[in-house]
Amino acid sequence: LARGYASVSSATAHDLLIVGGGTAGINVANQVKATFEAHGYEAPRMSLIDKAELHHYQPGWTLVGAGLKDLSEVNRPLQEVVPEHVSLVKQFVEKLDPTENSLITGDGQRHTYNTLVLCPGMRLDYDAVEGLRDAMGQNGVASIYDYNQVGKVWSNIRDFEKGRALFTFPGSAPFIKCAGAPIKIMLAAEDYWRREGRRSGIQVDYTTALPRMFGVQKYSDVLKRLTEERNVTPHFESVLTKVDGLNKVATFKTKEGEVRKEYDFLHATVSMAAHAFVKSSDVANPKGEVAVDERTLRSTKYDNVWSLGDASSLPTSKTAAGIMSQTPVLAHNLFQASQGKQLDAAYDGYTSCPLLTGRGELLLAEFKYGGALAETFSPYGFSQDKPTRWAYHLKKDILPAVYFGPFMRGQWFGRNAFSRPQF
Ligand SMILES: Cc1cc2nc3c(=O)[nH]c(=O)nc-3n(C[C@H](O)[C@H](O)[C@H](O)COP(=O)(O)OP(=O)(O)OC[C@H]3O[C@@H](n4cnc5c(N)ncnc54)[C@H](O)[C@@H]3O)c2cc1C
Repeated sequence: LARGYASVSSATAHDLLIVGGGTAGINVANQVKATFEAHGYEAPRMSLIDKAELHHYQPGWTLVGAGLKDLSEVNRPLQEVVPEHVSLVKQFVEKLDPTENSLITGDGQRHTYNTLVLCPGMRLDYDAVEGLRDAMGQNGVASIYDYNQVGKVWSNIRDFEKGRALFTFPGSAPFIKCAGAPIKIMLAAEDYWRREGRRSGIQVDYTTALPRMFGVQKYSDVLKRLTEERNVTPHFESVLTKVDGLNKVATFKTKEGEVRKEYDFLHATVSMAAHAFVKSSDVANPKGEVAVDERTLRSTKYDNVWSLGDASSLPTSKTAAGIMSQTPVLAHNLFQASQGKQLDAAYDGYTSCPLLTGRGELLLAEFKYGGALAETFSPYGFSQDKPTRWAYHLKKDILPAVYFGPFMRGQWFGRNAFSRPQF
């Protein structure tokens, strides 16, 4: 009894608890406050759990890998971006028990909550590919998906003179963030080598677990044309299973069986997976994603649990752009739930993938659930049928500035820009 009492009394109680201070967590913290206040209510007391030192603008990692930005431009200390109204718990969650409205952090502390927002993203799963962890960072192997390797991608591209360059797309779906990034870095590298006059000595191979270049047919067709013009050899339904870093040999599982390829340069998109504390808890679907209603963003199992971003089961491409459309919906529905009212905001699956195709050119893909096109600019005469310079500057210059400016303050609503969506 005494032990039980001690553990209960030592639990830290939270009103609204957010797990993860990434793109989703910081945005939710700001927008929930703004939504309650817009309705004339005081926002719930908020806490955010995350032990990371840095907050990352991951869309910038492709730009760094392509030599277009410095790594220091795409992150900030987490402490600096957590809003003042939020108390930061510098720990990682290790165990979640939604039946008890509680979780346990790495220091053994138990935390209880009235409402929980889960947005811890996903983890890199190096173990999915034999030998990749050891090979990473050496002998021409790097990845823009691993923060510690992003700078290495650029030095590998810059220093590569001749031989076979391999780029891979993993078989870890639905765990893949920004499914366009593996192709973006390939096209950016190819463009660089061509401009430097080295292209004739470099063979470029793109191997992907997918049956085509990109999930949405329209953009897939554009990319197919582009890769043909640029003499890139695609290999579909081909999954990297092993890397022998010393001998520079990559092994793939294909429909025809195991295929081994020698390489001189390897950009490996590391497989991704759910965090163990999510996967092992009752909030998860069998794949390990937080199971939410795809329109309301509320847990399908617990009314006081919500999720968005990469960790959620939302059946759309996992991007920061998607989160910018998810957050206003979640904030509104969470407010409605607090008033016992109907959840009347619905997320339509909007997401965007700015497909960098080289220096000064980018194809802006925008779509929603089911791959239906949701283009913001084409109705105004700005082409989204081919790579353009205006879209390149949007991605390279405007969006990073917006992210660390109005977005961080909760004043940016994605494709709605500065205007808060009304439901
Ligand atoms: C190379 C690359 C290129 C991309 N390009 C684009 C792009 O061009 N456009 C675009 O819109 N999107 C892009 N994305 C995707 C986008 O960055 C992600 O979808 C977005 O960052 C997901 O946000 P999130 O908050 O869900 O997760 P994250 O931003 O990953 O944040 C998760 C947070 O949770 C914390 N956390 C993890 N485990 C725990 C735990 N156990 N307890 C507590 N906290 C925990 C982490 O420390 C982290 O701070 C790209 C991503 C990559 C990697």
